[in-house]
Formats: sequence, structure tokens, C-alpha cells
Amino acid sequence: MIALKIQDLSKNFGSTEVLKKINLKIDEGNFLVLLGPSGCGKSTLLNIIAGLETIDEGTVFIDDYDVSKVEPKDRNIAMVFQSYALYPSMSVKENMVFGLKQAKASKEKIEEQLKKFSNFLHVDELLNRKPSQLSGGQRQRVAIGRALVREPRIFLFDEPLSNLDAKLRVEMRREIKKLHQKLKTTVVYVTHDQTEAMSLGTNIAIMNHGIIQQYDTPENIYNKPNNTFVADFIGSPPMNLISGQLVKEANKTLFIPEGSGQSNNITIKNYNFVKTQDENSKDVYFGIRPEHIHYKKTNDNDIEFNLKTDLNEYIGHEQITTFNYFNQEVLGKFPSTIKIETNKEMKLFFDLSQISIFDKKTNNRI
Ligand code: ADP
Ligand code: MG
Repeated sequence: MIALKIQDLSKNFGSTEVLKKINLKIDEGNFLVLLGPSGCGKSTLLNIIAGLETIDEGTVFIDDYDVSKVEPKDRNIAMVFQSYALYPSMSVKENMVFGLKQAKASKEKIEEQLKKFSNFLHVDELLNRKPSQLSGGQRQRVAIGRALVREPRIFLFDEPLSNLDAKLRVEMRREIKKLHQKLKTTVVYVTHDQTEAMSLGTNIAIMNHGIIQQYDTPENIYNKPNNTFVADFIGSPPMNLISGQLVKEANKTLFIPEGSGQSNNITIKNYNFVKTQDENSKDVYFGIRPEHIHYKKTNDNDIEFNLKTDLNEYIGHEQITTFNYFNQEVLGKFPSTIKIETNKEMKLFFDLSQISIFDKKTNNRI
């Protein structure tokens, strides 16, 4: 069953188009992440789903009902903000049950929900404290608890972990994942952090400039990016995008890297083109992720190169090496246990079963 549907949604602030014809659907129980750089319209979209922001064009459906004009309190949703937005003068307990009281739930129901979720979120020892007496992580738990006790149809999270330090962020991320695994509620979660998006989402919508660039599973977003924006936004370091030409020759398709002369090329084999390529030559980006450049042959699709190492960055669990590939920078990612020397030729293998090819004109995957 579709829990949330957004149809042809557009939104302007004055003359700025913030959302352009957004279409999204999310099945009940799924975890949708809206991912994109700051200012791309994620919060605006979330606020529209919550009913906190008006719509210029399009429709929002919750469970098949058009809720575009329904008051936020009648949408059966709950929202968790980055700033926690707890009432400073109320205790943890009062904060947590506030929504239930507003909704005129019975005393018994309130006690039951409070017990269940304060336990679940490990805040049962903190119920009499004020928000100022809590750490950042505890405050965020209370904010989540306040949303949970109401057992809404849809949970909306707006960058709930961005105010936490790096270690706590990873911990809370796992807790949110466990929470979703257990409760199986529908979630829409906004973040600019790709790792958070990949680890939490069952579906990710990558946005840029108010447009959804790709709406897909984390695996497809990573392995089959729709365009160069997605390829470049996801992955650390991002996918190498090597400039060159795709040329058809007899019954072969070749990639000729820019600056290589015609003599050095890669024969493209077993690549699933989105559609048949009818042009004889095309300016393209040849995309390969740093981890798909191997230091030893791993499979039959690996093709061998000798490239000069320009730079090596040791970061503990791995090392990232920059190579000179016909004067284009190409990055590889290797285990930290192998010895890599800078300014030396190194034997490498590009795994052709893992590549992406993009049209330089449109930046789209071909
Ligand atoms: P994100 O959450 O992805 O960082 P937002 O949805 O907050 O982005 O904002 C998208 C764009 O809309 C930004 O350019 C922002 O400056 C603008 N914007 C957001 N809210 C308002 C507002 N109330 N009035 C005018 N412009 C706004
Ligand atoms: Mg935002």
C-alpha cells in the first residue's frame, strides 16, 4: 500500500523556484531519504508533507487521501527537527506526552505509551529532568520519543543528527535504524549526509536545485547513477569521471581517453547501455569508482594499466592514491597493507564490469 504520494509538486518563494515538478511514492513501512546539498529544497519538501508550508502546484496524498489542504495536526504525522524543539520549561515526561495530551488521549493511554517508549529509547531514568539537563544525544532521544508516543502514520525527520558530534551521530544512526526495523513505520528522512542516507534508506531521492535527480534503492544509486551529479555526490572519494570519446569501430565500442592519442583505448564489453547508441562517436565521461581500480587482477573484466602515482593519502583502514591517466587525475582506493610509492609506475586493473558511461552533453547515463 502506498503511504505517501507526491504528484507534480512545485513551490516558489517569490521568484525562486524551490521545487520543480516533484513526483514521489513511498510504500507503507519504507524508509525514504531525501538527500541533497544544502539549499536544494529538502526541508521545504518535508514541510509541505507536514502541512507547515503551502503548495503552489501539485498534490500530496497520504493513504490515497488528498491532504494538500488538511491542517498539520490532522495529517497523522509526527516530525523530528534538527534543533530538537523541546519545550525548555517542561520536564522530559511532559515533553514526551505533550502531543498525546493535546490529542486528548486518556490518562491510561498516556502512561502506557510513555512507559513503552521511554523504555525503548533509554530515557526512563531521565523523565523528571529538564531539557537543559540533558546531553545532545539524550535531547534527540526525547524529541524522537515525543514523536513516537503518538504512533503516527508517517514520521518526518529533518536532519535529526546534524547537531551531534561524529561518534554520537553514528550511534544514533544505528538506533534509528533499529527503531525502524522494529516498528516498521513509514519514514521520510532529510539529510545532506550520504552515509546516513545509504545506511538508513530503503529508498533514496537525490535532489539538486529542486529537482529529483534519481529515486532508487541505495544499491542502484551507488552502482548505476542516472547522471554525473549522482555519480559525483555519492561515494568518498566520488566516482572518477574520465573525459574522452566513445567510438564505434567495426563491431566494437571503444573508449578513447582525452589526451591519449588514438592508440590507447579501452574496449567496452558487457556494458548495459540504457539504449542503443546510434552515433559513431560521442563525447563522454567514463565513470569508475576508486574501489573498482584494483592492484591485482580479481576477475575476467579487469583490464591492465601502468599508471604513475602522483599522491598517496594514508587514512588508516585504507589509502587513496592519485594517478596520472593521460593528464587526468584518477583516484584509486586500496587496503592500507600494500606498499605504494609516489612517483612510481604501478600496475593497476580497471574492473570493466563496474563502470558507468555518461553523455558529456546531457550528463546523463547512456
Ligand atoms: P535544504 O533543506 O535542502 O537545505 P530548503 O528547503 O531549506 O533547503 O531551502 C531551499 C531554498 O529555498 C533555499 O534557497 C532557501 O534559501 C529557500 N527558502 C527556504 N525557505 C524560504 C522562505 N521561507 N522564504 C524564502 N526562501 C526560502
Ligand atoms: Mg534543510
